[in-house]
Amino acid sequence: MKTYIVKHKDINSRMKSRSGGVFAAVSDKVLDAGGVVYGCALDEQFNAYHRRAVTKEERDLFRGSKYVQSDMKDAMKEAIVDLKEGRFVLFSGTPCQVAGMKAVCPPGKEENLLTIDIVCHGVPSPVVWNAYKSYMEKKYHGRITGVDFRNKRNHGWWEHIESVKIHGLEVDSQIYKNLFYEHNILRECCYECPYKSTERVGDISIADAWGIAQAAPDFDDNHGVSLVLCSTDKGLKWLEQGLKDCDYRECDLKDYMQEPLIRSFAKPANYEQFWEEYFSKDFGTVIRERYEDSVKTHMKWRIKRMVKAVVPQTLINRLRGRV
Ligand SMILES: Cc1cc2nc3c(=O)[nH]c(=O)nc-3n(C[C@H](O)[C@H](O)[C@H](O)COP(=O)(O)OP(=O)(O)OC[C@H]3O[C@@H](n4cnc5c(N)ncnc54)[C@H](O)[C@@H]3O)c2cc1C
Ligand code: SF4
Repeated sequence: MKTYIVKHKDINSRMKSRSGGVFAAVSDKVLDAGGVVYGCALDEQFNAYHRRAVTKEERDLFRGSKYVQSDMKDAMKEAIVDLKEGRFVLFSGTPCQVAGMKAVCPPGKEENLLTIDIVCHGVPSPVVWNAYKSYMEKKYHGRITGVDFRNKRNHGWWEHIESVKIHGLEVDSQIYKNLFYEHNILRECCYECPYKSTERVGDISIADAWGIAQAAPDFDDNHGVSLVLCSTDKGLKWLEQGLKDCDYRECDLKDYMQEPLIRSFAKPANYEQFWEEYFSKDFGTVIRERYEDSVKTHMKWRIKRMVKAVVPQTLINRLRGRV
């Protein structure tokens, strides 16, 4: 297996992608050669689903991570037709989706199927994503007109802040991110995932190059660097085409290891309690109790400490006496 750290030479292109833009670089070459690309897009209600792309504009809908389970709809059926009719197909998705696509590849057409899997933390249930969208719409009194699951443009690659557009304003939040990383909302299968390994199912695997701060800090500009694992000759042939548009270095995987390349995340100890609360209270109450109240309490505590640090205690006592 070959491993690389990669960033697209075109910074505008890189900013449209979650990390270094290697997916766009490789899929550009497939589209230029007359191939078809499959990946995860968002519909008008911001639900994640898989679809087909034959142009770069359509393919661009797949860029950026959507931290929710993607509905496969008819994507695999359409990919089978493409393969049967002799078209070259690039299929991208989570490792379990890639394994599914490989399993239904028409016999004899394997050479025409290139697969890219993402190194996968796990996928949250769409039920919670929908509840979050409704909560934000109610809170900010309007319809959502755009979402960014991890807003790299305003906050950089390292930071994890989601943004939703309502009334043309971009509202930043970390509520969904907190839910995601607490691991209560992942699909049941993600807690015992057979694809959490350096033995990859796809020809090419892509991830954020976490570890770069120690291993290659001069390559990091906080606009995103991809880690790429290439497992097959077919993958390498296409990756080498894509790398013509990228800056890259071969790297040692041990410098870039992360939990999803080793094992599944365990179910949290408070898993049952979370879902009991989720189904017995409304989403807003669950969120307020978990995050907003604790953020407010934390802020009040910090403000108190700051005031105490600069205002003499005697003055505080006198002010308190007046109130
Ligand atoms: C749910 C999820 C969990 C992830 N977990 C990790 C992780 O733990 N560690 C890590 O390093 N990287 C993780 N990633 C992968 C990741 O950060 C990027 O895919 C990777 O950095 C590639 O970067 P890029 O700039 O080339 O991709 P981009 O241009 O952003 O391309 C995005 C690619 O991801 C696919 N994709 C987007 N959303 C979904 C989805 N919901 N389901 C299936 N496919 C999707 C698209 O089809 C496309 O192939 C995750 C991504 C997702 C969607
Ligand atoms: S963690 Fe495993 S089972 Fe869950 S979506 Fe990712 S690849 Fe599929």
